[in-house]
Amino acid sequence: MSRMRALVNQRCPVCLQGPVFSGFLRTRTHCPVCDIRFQRESGYYLNAMFVAYVLGFLLLAPLALVLYFNAVSPLLFTLIIVSVITLLWPLVFRYSRVIWLHADQLMEPRQAPAAKDASSPDA
Ligand SMILES: [Zn+2]
Repeated sequence: MSRMRALVNQRCPVCLQGPVFSGFLRTRTHCPVCDIRFQRESGYYLNAMFVAYVLGFLLLAPLALVLYFNAVSPLLFTLIIVSVITLLWPLVFRYSRVIWLHADQLMEPRQAPAAKDASSPDA
């Protein structure tokens, strides 16, 4: 599986196969396939917040411009933007973490452990 496909499918940045999430918004602690620990250190996902800012901007700026140039009322503008943010937030949350995991893997590569630990808490 290519890295881009793994990123789109929200897979592990090391083996490119294990799912990063175990629920709607629940991030696994370890990859169920290669057993790599996703969160390298405390506060690791803080950088995903910056990715979320960029994603949010890229998704909302075009919409805001369209609304602005169509002279939408401030109330309607606010309602539309808040609704879209609310709808897209789970998507932005998930992809910001996955993008950060893959970017970090590219900047500082790590190998999967040799043997999978069967006592993984969220396997
Ligand atoms: Zn993995």
